[in-house]
Amino acid sequence: MNTCIIMRNTMRRSCAAALLVAGLLAGASAGAADAPSPQPGAATASAPRVLVLATGGTISGTADPRSAIGYNSGNVKGQELVRGVPGIEKLASISAEQISNVGSQDMNDKIWLQLARRIDEAFERNEADGVVITHGTDTIEETAFFLHNVLRSNKPVVLVGSMRPGGTTSADGPNNLYEAVEVAASAQSRGRGVMVVMNDQIHAPRWITKTNTTAVQAFASPNAGAIGYVDPASVRFVTPAPQTARDALSLPADGQLPRVDIVYAHSNMDGRQIDHAIADGAKGIVVAGEGDGDASKEALAALDRAVKKGIVVVRSTRVLSGFVNRNVEVDDDKRGFVVSLDLNPQKARLLTQLLVANGITDPGRVQEAFKGTW
Ligand code: ASP
Repeated sequence: MNTCIIMRNTMRRSCAAALLVAGLLAGASAGAADAPSPQPGAATASAPRVLVLATGGTISGTADPRSAIGYNSGNVKGQELVRGVPGIEKLASISAEQISNVGSQDMNDKIWLQLARRIDEAFERNEADGVVITHGTDTIEETAFFLHNVLRSNKPVVLVGSMRPGGTTSADGPNNLYEAVEVAASAQSRGRGVMVVMNDQIHAPRWITKTNTTAVQAFASPNAGAIGYVDPASVRFVTPAPQTARDALSLPADGQLPRVDIVYAHSNMDGRQIDHAIADGAKGIVVAGEGDGDASKEALAALDRAVKKGIVVVRSTRVLSGFVNRNVEVDDDKRGFVVSLDLNPQKARLLTQLLVANGITDPGRVQEAFKGTW
């Protein structure tokens, strides 16, 4: 595994429309990569260049007649998605590539690495000023946080999804995609790195989480709020762009992130799931703890066994907001545990995977890497 850490570059340069469903379906198929394709009627030569990378999800889904809310995700390819949004070609010179076509419940290391490599390459070769990734909403926060930790550039990378597929009366995909391109192309987005645009809001990868199973307003950043707002005419950030360079973690050389398991805490909990994770070879265990990252005495004793075997143990929480603090009801110093602070279990898992892949397993160093920018 590659164990070096690369310094992230500092800033380098200073209408919901109805989907044209018939046209979209005509060319819909999954899988193969598209060649970049300039849009007809594109903006002028000096317009910002936005590369759209399509991965699937409801935003590329189409309604299914089997039930009132049924649909098939990942039916429509990236180029067709872009073509289905009236006026989008005036925002930027847009090209589109298909990276995958999956529901984001099937998002995996392979696609993540492919995305990260393609984005680094596009910025290093100066092919784009900003990137938009169309993505399913189930795990969009994980992909955003992964890219935030590994990308070498601070140029804007905007992830976008939709809660409703094309072909439904209230499809939110076209407007979300329009606004994502608007944010990626905006001069105000320079130096802001990875963001998520959903339902007129702009969120940071560390804070955003899905808070509703089906509502259009499904996303929130409970500990921080949105970092900005977007509508078809304006982009407004309410937080300053990050001023300091940050470290980017290296991608695993063997193409696979190490195994880190999440164990969900509950009343009447024993240590068996934790012992199974140890026996299965997990390199890290994240506890989705109760309250301030708590777990039963038996569960804590099993976590002690994990630490003794050199496994990284992180206490996170199953609660939607707040921080998990060190040494409150659990003596983390004595036990060798790490706390996730504001990172929810799925993001704590991801960061632990990346740290272990970079050879960082000492609890003190892991804890340091979990620190935010507040
Ligand atoms: N299951 C879908 C996905 O994450 C849901 C969505 O995109 O809204 O791909």
